[in-house]
Amino acid sequence: MTQSQNTVLIANRGEIALRIIRACRRLGLRAVCAFSEADRGAAYLDLADDAICVGPATASKSYLNISAILAAAKITGADMIHPGYGFLSENADFSQAVADAGLTLIGPSADVMRRMGDKVAAKTAMIASGVPCVPGPDSVLPNDIDEITRIANEIGYPVILKAAGGGGGRGMRIVKSAGALADAFMLTKQEAQRYFNNPDIYMEKFLEKPRHVEIQVISDSHGTALWLGDRDCSMQRRHQKMIEEAPAPDIDRALIAKIGERCAASCREIGYVGAGTFEFLYENGEFFFIEMNTRIQVEHPVTEMVTGLDIVAMQIDVARGAALTLAQSDVRTEGHSFECRINAEDPDTFAPSPGTVDLMHVPGGPGVRVDTHIATGAKISASYDSMVAKVITHGATRDEALARARSALAEMKIEGVSTNILLHRALLADAGFAKGGVSIHHLEHWLDNRD
Ligand code: ADP
Repeated sequence: MTQSQNTVLIANRGEIALRIIRACRRLGLRAVCAFSEADRGAAYLDLADDAICVGPATASKSYLNISAILAAAKITGADMIHPGYGFLSENADFSQAVADAGLTLIGPSADVMRRMGDKVAAKTAMIASGVPCVPGPDSVLPNDIDEITRIANEIGYPVILKAAGGGGGRGMRIVKSAGALADAFMLTKQEAQRYFNNPDIYMEKFLEKPRHVEIQVISDSHGTALWLGDRDCSMQRRHQKMIEEAPAPDIDRALIAKIGERCAASCREIGYVGAGTFEFLYENGEFFFIEMNTRIQVEHPVTEMVTGLDIVAMQIDVARGAALTLAQSDVRTEGHSFECRINAEDPDTFAPSPGTVDLMHVPGGPGVRVDTHIATGAKISASYDSMVAKVITHGATRDEALARARSALAEMKIEGVSTNILLHRALLADAGFAKGGVSIHHLEHWLDNRD
């Protein structure tokens, strides 16, 4: 470990910036927050050792502005940069620029990020490591419709066309029959070019009622890679997760262990350093890899609750060259955990609800953790994501963790802006969700059928 590395610039905002400050405290490091004009005066900035303005509210001019972030690191004497999630966290050019500036990114190298950011290249790497993937070739589709039709017939309809450079749930199209294939291919290709500047498209089997189950990994630069358990994030609307839990209920633990081992092996093979997540669809007792996220995820706390680990602190440690002090057999999970994402948004239209928080009350008690950067009097900006808090609970059993989630959501109060708190209360009371193991369509069906 390079002892001289002692200052982390946090190139992010909100709850994850505060989460990173806390990890820095735990490790005895200085924490410096980069902030935009829109976040000037935010209370969480006072908890950092230093804070520096990196530009106006518009993210492209501040939180996404590579030269402004690098200048902020230089001015504040930071030697490490934590990108959090979103913004620059999966930007390979940023990873390269940080390295070129002689600084340490708390995240993987540009090469690894680039490879995992290309979904076809990622799939090829996974197949090589024995990680099971969705049926379909790990190659870009040719421009020959006869050949594409042949591939689709071989996979069997429905199929899904996906942009190799895609992300954020965009650049995907489901195709139910051969007649719709040619048009769907052209449209998806155009979209891929427009959104991702990369027209490459690939095809896989469309799974009809899968669950979203993911594996958390952490690897150091000395060849150790661990998997830290699994999470079920099936409760999502338009690919946005709303409630997550660990572990995924009703899945054979031996099968999950086998998949987890394969993910860790894959990290060793690709030379991965950092925290990461392998996302899978799970259907009929089988796992199918869909993508790897090369950053810390919003839902990492449910894994922290069941493992007792501080994943953000571990992430910083491995980035500065430390060896993981755990072996796989030391990673144990205990009990169950839920996370409810609290958004400042209209509960019916889901439109963001910026404004001033007139009153906020945060729940507590055994097994309750709330990660939030706001309190009474806080201003919620229209410029950024509407998530303002994460209510996380733990219990010895799934039932206990769920009971604590219900009680925590009953206590939680935010006034002055609209939130999805009431929606969470209703969802936590839903019998289907309470039973566990719902598919990724459950929440949207539930929303369509509510009164
Ligand atoms: P992105 O990077 O845009 O998030 P993903 O590959 O992670 O794209 O897919 C996003 C979502 O799309 C998945 O969570 C799932 O809901 C759906 N999806 C992706 N691939 C398939 C598939 N083969 N079958 C069914 N649904 C899929």
